[in-house]
Amino acid sequence: MPDGIVRLTFDRPDSAANVFDRATIGELELRLEAIAADKDVRGVLFDSAKPSIFIAGADLEELSALTDPDDIRAAVERGQRVFDRIAKLPCTTVAAIHGACLGGGFELALACDARIASDDRATKIGLPEVMLGILPAWGGSTRLPRLIGMPQALAAILQGRQHPAKLAKIRGLVDRVVPKEHLHRLAIDLLRTGPPKRKSIRLAHLKPIAKFIAKKATDQVLATTGGHYPAPLRVIEVVRDGLAVSEAESQKLEADAAVDLIRTDVSKQLIRVFFLQERAKKCSVLPQGAPTPEPERVDRMVVLGAGVMGAGIAQWSSARGIEVILRDLDPERVRAGMQTIASTYKSAVKKRKLDRVAAQAGLDRVFPSAIDVPFGDVDLVVEAAVEKMDVKRTIFADLDEAARPAAILATNTSSLSVSDVAEGLDHPQRVVGIHFFNPVARMQLVEVVRGKATSNEVLERAVRYVHQIGKLPVVVADAPGFVVNRILMPYLFEAVHLFENGAAIESVDRAMTQFGMPMGPLRLLDEVGLDVAAHVGDHVGPIFGDRLPTCPSMQAMVDAGWLGRKAGRGFYVYSKKKTKKDPKPNGALDRHVTSKSAVTLPVDELARRMTLLMINEAARCLEENVVEDPRDVDFAMIMGTGFAPFRGGPLRHADAIGVATAVEALRRLSNEVSARFEPCDTLVRMAKESRSFYPSDS
Ligand code: NAD
Repeated sequence: MPDGIVRLTFDRPDSAANVFDRATIGELELRLEAIAADKDVRGVLFDSAKPSIFIAGADLEELSALTDPDDIRAAVERGQRVFDRIAKLPCTTVAAIHGACLGGGFELALACDARIASDDRATKIGLPEVMLGILPAWGGSTRLPRLIGMPQALAAILQGRQHPAKLAKIRGLVDRVVPKEHLHRLAIDLLRTGPPKRKSIRLAHLKPIAKFIAKKATDQVLATTGGHYPAPLRVIEVVRDGLAVSEAESQKLEADAAVDLIRTDVSKQLIRVFFLQERAKKCSVLPQGAPTPEPERVDRMVVLGAGVMGAGIAQWSSARGIEVILRDLDPERVRAGMQTIASTYKSAVKKRKLDRVAAQAGLDRVFPSAIDVPFGDVDLVVEAAVEKMDVKRTIFADLDEAARPAAILATNTSSLSVSDVAEGLDHPQRVVGIHFFNPVARMQLVEVVRGKATSNEVLERAVRYVHQIGKLPVVVADAPGFVVNRILMPYLFEAVHLFENGAAIESVDRAMTQFGMPMGPLRLLDEVGLDVAAHVGDHVGPIFGDRLPTCPSMQAMVDAGWLGRKAGRGFYVYSKKKTKKDPKPNGALDRHVTSKSAVTLPVDELARRMTLLMINEAARCLEENVVEDPRDVDFAMIMGTGFAPFRGGPLRHADAIGVATAVEALRRLSNEVSARFEPCDTLVRMAKESRSFYPSDS
């Protein structure tokens, strides 16, 4: 490098990612020692040789293996010491960021004098530690508030957001954003001229109001998390108290908090969810080393049906570079679908998830059509037409003839059998289920459904498409409701049944939000739509037999047009005006309360009944081989329904309370309330053999 400038390039061997493991920190420490001792060094440039990662954070495998408080403290203090060395170097230091710069990666950047980032889509900057139940403890909780002020720093750390480069610049996380080609040159310029002048944050002025800001942030955290997550609350304390003391003392507060938080069960579960996501990213149905089926990527696809789901799938796929033909029966419906897509793009721009140019390019990749479309070079067809078997069969019979042999044919059905859809076709092996969740732009999970005839190659290509568009697949058997709706169904029906038996609407919902669900089941039914839920119930209901209570109020609500939020009225009444107030329960439903047996049940008991039914159904999914691994059930429920992530999913929760205890409670309810609580064979057997779903040390 010219003029005494040293370049430190992170390039972890045999890995696509750079992470801070012990070896990397050790090597960095040695290099920094040498730099500090060399008087000729005038500047240090930090960058990465990886195509889409600067530094992704700390090595979570290593971190989660630490249990001894002294070991945790030593690891935290070592990182702090090394980054302090960077901060104290007498020469200028610049982080040239291209790709993911997260957690420890961003804490390194924060220790530099300046940060510049490429405007590439791969560049994501932030401190997502609270998502893992911990906090930025390598100086991040100390340096960020001093750089951008307490409210902004708290917002960034508490949201754990991964900022695109331009947003990172607006929020002050980086100093400059430039095209990737200019990143290096600009970094050298900065090293020569010195870091940009900063407006100093007046900490003295901040101190008197720090308490007020902290209190407001605490109230907000408690309102959104119900107090289940210790990390955000501790972050607020550390930032508040850290600003009142020296940087060294503030880092001591960081270390104390890290030692406490890493050992919490919440953090263990959240880190486990992170690993489950990584597992889904690598999911494959082919044996290791098997050749990748062709074509490897989806370049062009057709989406049939421009309704809620079709429009969502077309938008999301086009945003990931796929050309999409969106087909519906008439121009009006196609236009409505295109409008939905345009407004989803608009909102992505508003939320700074996409820039204007990328959004326009995505929209331009969707070709609307109300007439038959050419299938000549299409790699994938996703059918998202109405949920009627005869409609789907007609569509697939046409596709069987029209689509080229290499195309795979997917249905987005929620409740029909993929095998039945494919029955009678000449090429049933290329029919697969690709079940997205609503809203597509928000839900990361996709169930990939293996029909009776689906070939492994087709299943693998479906999984790869899901990976290609940045979603997380779980491969499931073609059983009614697959995994997520299957487990949700008894839970939601039980909620309605409890309401019909006198439990207050808010009590039923509060029982489950207190348990840790993002919203209560009756509120969820309003969001899904009573008509949609009743429809799914009609299709998958028969497999449950007596396990689903009859809920006459649901049909009555559908008949009355009280379909939930979209109709302004369901279990709750929704105001047309945008308001922060919670909607009020729909008092007109009182006449559907037909018994008083649940009036006096405490919320704990309400929650127990609903969660035990989920556990029972989750165990049945394993019993019937809908999936084979308990991790798939738990992962699907966390990602598909928001099942309290800190509890690790229904099966993990069963382990936590003890399978034998769950069986005993189910039996009691079966005797006292209804046979629908009867524990399934798998649970009974496991209780007898004192087994758990997971090894006790996992
Ligand atoms: P929707 O009623 O909003 O849209 C269906 C669209 O399909 C309509 O615009 C209709 O005109 C069109 N259509 C009907 N026949 C067609 C044909 N032959 N060719 C092209 N278009 C045709 O329905 P939706 O909610 O988007 O659901 C679509 C599918 O996705 C269903 O199978 C449903 O079970 C499934 N699904 C729905 C949800 C949900 O929450 N809405 C979630 C997951 C899966």
